[in-house]
Amino acid sequence: MHIYDVLVVGAGPIGLATALGLRQRGIENILVIDQTRAFRQVGQVIDLLPNGLNALKYIDLKAYEEVKKKGMSFLSSTPSNDNANQTTQKPKSPKTSPEWVQKNFKGERIRATPLSYDHWFQQYGEGRVSIAWYDLQTILRNLLPEDSVKANHRCINVVYEPEYKCVRVDCVSHLGGEQNPYAHWENAQNHENAQPENLEIISQQSETKSFRAKLVVAADGINSTVRRILYKNTPYQAFARPEYSGFAAVGCQGISEVSNKLLTELNEKFFENSRIVTIFNDEISRDSDCMKQVWMMLFQRKGGQLGYIIHLALPLDSLKHKSGTALIDLALLSLEKANFPTCLKQLVSLSPPANMLQRPYYIHRAMISDRLQFPSTANLNLDTHPLEMQPAWKAQRVVLVGDAAHGMPPFMAQGANQGFEDALAIATLIANIKDKHDWDNTQAISEAFDKYEHLRRPFMVDIQKATLERLYWSDKEWQDYSQKLYRRNFNKLLETLQ
Ligand SMILES: Cc1cc2nc3c(=O)[nH]c(=O)nc-3n(C[C@H](O)[C@H](O)[C@H](O)COP(=O)(O)OP(=O)(O)OC[C@H]3O[C@@H](n4cnc5c(N)ncnc54)[C@H](O)[C@@H]3O)c2cc1C
Repeated sequence: MHIYDVLVVGAGPIGLATALGLRQRGIENILVIDQTRAFRQVGQVIDLLPNGLNALKYIDLKAYEEVKKKGMSFLSSTPSNDNANQTTQKPKSPKTSPEWVQKNFKGERIRATPLSYDHWFQQYGEGRVSIAWYDLQTILRNLLPEDSVKANHRCINVVYEPEYKCVRVDCVSHLGGEQNPYAHWENAQNHENAQPENLEIISQQSETKSFRAKLVVAADGINSTVRRILYKNTPYQAFARPEYSGFAAVGCQGISEVSNKLLTELNEKFFENSRIVTIFNDEISRDSDCMKQVWMMLFQRKGGQLGYIIHLALPLDSLKHKSGTALIDLALLSLEKANFPTCLKQLVSLSPPANMLQRPYYIHRAMISDRLQFPSTANLNLDTHPLEMQPAWKAQRVVLVGDAAHGMPPFMAQGANQGFEDALAIATLIANIKDKHDWDNTQAISEAFDKYEHLRRPFMVDIQKATLERLYWSDKEWQDYSQKLYRRNFNKLLETLQ
């Protein structure tokens, strides 16, 4: 019976980064499993910001360098409107270095964030890059030995086996459908055809297999199976599934039939020299009607097509089983209620239904502190559930990292960045266990996992709060947040872990 030192569930960016961090620290008897039948091009583009890149540098220098290189080439490869075959109909080309501009309804600039690595480097001592989720996964995966990452293994059970001083992870292979509504976009068509996500429905051809490991790191994303198993029949049961955050996105991948008049207006008022612009009402306050909490990302695509993503607060049910046309109506109604300018509503009304996308955003809260805010906790028994609860991140020899521990909507672009901070902390702590020959010392393991939680949870509580509230922030609040977040001192952090 082979027993791995560490088994990582989930070959997303955080599981793979954890595995790399462990190898760098001398732990090679590891295995990473993933449910995907084969690694394939999925996921969105994500921003890696100074804190995440810096954490990656400490995890594995080579991984950092390769990710940075790929990320830096991303900006230069994104479509520019200097395109020679572009007709006069299309918006004007950005001439200056790219930036992400935020504007109000009048088209006035509220904030502009340069996107270049160098700009961030000068500000915070480390830069920022954009990279496709799949490219990030591929780079990290290729740095691990081929046989230490296994696709087609979906974890369905985790059993603590004290007699063998390990955990057994049961997996199933060749599962029929695959669905990940929490991590990837759904378009209006495939939303209808989505496979039921039911562990009981295991197809005829599926095979089961078990692995054993001294420690299990669960990096299986916001809809974590391992978390569900850990929380079953515990006070945390109500938090086993990710909670709907109250926010969703409705978007259109591409609109080409836009009149010259409308293009000119959008270009002059909103795009100016930018390729991407976020538009929202800068007059809303913390007490504003939630229907006003709508913000729209408008972007120009290759070949001059326009696209948009509207983020809005709305009940989850209003998205269910919506056709492309129904999504357009929903978007228009939301823009109307939030008093968006007519030209933006005109653009939305031109969306081809087949290009419509939608996604509800989920969260696994780092702290459940106010039951009034969180409907799913409203019916809990107050005697068994104190007002402030911290849904556990560990049990015996299992620990949660990344989105499995604290997944959240992407409005602050911190999910993967925070996950890299987790990976650095947990790889360091597990390496301490190895160095002190503490694999059999459950007390030492429990203390190490507690240290990880005490270090990471308070920070995640702040980040999740910022994610849901930042729309009302002043410039000062943005500056304080950026300084605190992007200038994280990992030398100091590592010292506290010794
Ligand atoms: C639209 C959008 C934009 C985003 N933008 C940013 C951004 O700009 N910056 C940023 O930092 N973050 C961003 N994020 C968040 C970021 O994508 C996540 O935080 C990050 O991917 C989390 O990594 P992870 O490895 O913890 O989980 P995931 O990326 O979800 O990976 C989990 C892995 O586990 C596997 N898995 C799941 N269940 C099982 C199972 N039972 N058995 C085996 N394997 C399993 C999955 O197949 C997957 O490969 C964004 C997210 C979205 C949705």
